[in-house]
Amino acid sequence: MDLKFKKRTKIIATIGPAVDSKEGIKKLLKAGVNVFRLNTSHGTMQDHLEKFKTIRLVCKEFDYNAAIMIDLQGPKIRVGNLKKDIELKTGQKAIFAHNSKENNIIPVDYEGIANDVVKGNKILLDDGKIQAIVEEVKDNKVYVKITNGGILKSRKGLNIPGSTNSLNAVTKRDIEFIKFAIENKADYIALSFVRQKEDVLLAKKYINDLKSDIPVVSKLEKPQAIENLESIVSVSDCIMVARGDLGIELSPVEVPICQKKIIEECNKQKKPVIVATQMLESMINEPIPTRAESSDVANAILDGTDAVMLSGETSVGKFAVEAVETMTKIAKTVENSKFYTFDNDFKISEEMAITRQAIAFGADKMLKYVNAKALLSFSHFGYSTRLMSKLKPSVPIIMITDIEETQRRMALNWGVFAFCKKWDDVLNSELLINIDDFLINEIGLKKGDYVIITGSAPKLITGRTNFIRVHKIGT
Ligand code: PEP
Repeated sequence: MDLKFKKRTKIIATIGPAVDSKEGIKKLLKAGVNVFRLNTSHGTMQDHLEKFKTIRLVCKEFDYNAAIMIDLQGPKIRVGNLKKDIELKTGQKAIFAHNSKENNIIPVDYEGIANDVVKGNKILLDDGKIQAIVEEVKDNKVYVKITNGGILKSRKGLNIPGSTNSLNAVTKRDIEFIKFAIENKADYIALSFVRQKEDVLLAKKYINDLKSDIPVVSKLEKPQAIENLESIVSVSDCIMVARGDLGIELSPVEVPICQKKIIEECNKQKKPVIVATQMLESMINEPIPTRAESSDVANAILDGTDAVMLSGETSVGKFAVEAVETMTKIAKTVENSKFYTFDNDFKISEEMAITRQAIAFGADKMLKYVNAKALLSFSHFGYSTRLMSKLKPSVPIIMITDIEETQRRMALNWGVFAFCKKWDDVLNSELLINIDDFLINEIGLKKGDYVIITGSAPKLITGRTNFIRVHKIGT
């Protein structure tokens, strides 16, 4: 492997019928996927279990430890089952009520709908294609005027921007999938429709109560989440800019600046961030992206995102592999351009371990003094390696951990190439020979190249990171 030629922005692919086979997964890995996302809004637990097993099996054969993200549906509100499609005309009146069976009332699966909305609130249906405004709430019924008409079908999504206070942040279905994620050792759990930090803490409580520490990815897709951005980022392990629902709840026009704000906050708090949804949407049906789409992927990377995500493009698209290949090519082109520079104005955060911050920052700064070819980070859980990743150093971050789970989780972190090796010993001359062999034979570096090594002493991996070594291979 020559890491010089690998992209450093990570790619997340959603798995669906288009790629749901050993061959499909293998092709996606080859094209550059680092993380597979199982979207629990669709399919049964058994379906997801099959996908899970296939991914793990193929990763073993392919010798790449990709991460698996279980994306919880969250409190998604839907229209109930309709006897037939309903044509809603602009200007007409309509009524919504929880699970109503009455002929002239549109049933909704959200019990709190009449409690949460007030006159003037917007109600958006079917990804915002149909829009209504609340005129009155009476006897548990919501009376609306349709402001943008269309044909309403059963089970279509319903968004009430900002007004869903009675919704449980973690639903019964989510709890089942949290158990599933833990039983199957998933690497990330994504939480939909996060509104405030308490939602994240609640999901973490469910996870911790089951004796697990699977990291939580908070999906920001509600206006309240943007208002509570700083506190949500502070309690999350990772953030996703979920532009699909965000564009419905706010407006597509507001998404680009929201994306920049979210990335900026994540970079400030040194948390990984993912930009998701409609990145290469037209590739669901076409083999090449629109210029606007390739610019969108490039600009998200230039904004400083750590990962980019594909949804329909890989789950149901006709050109799933091509979509990943396109993303990989865009990422490499951007990363090698003169525009891909970040002002590493590293501010020591009082919330984090100061020694590890000093080492991450110091190691990044030292690279240029010796023209180092890589950062080599030894770490048990990856705390210091994650900090280095957020600095977006100019060289690959090679991580060596003794835990497979850590190795898989690092698949999401920008610029990190993680390996699992049982090298938890004092850094003596024998271990240095092994390290040099690894750097030359597995990474493609040469005798005489410099690398900056960080780890812990006396045990190399299992302690807290506390040293930096300027290392010349072969000496
Ligand atoms: C989104 O809304 O952008 C998103 C990623 O969530 P989902 O695909 O679960 O709707």
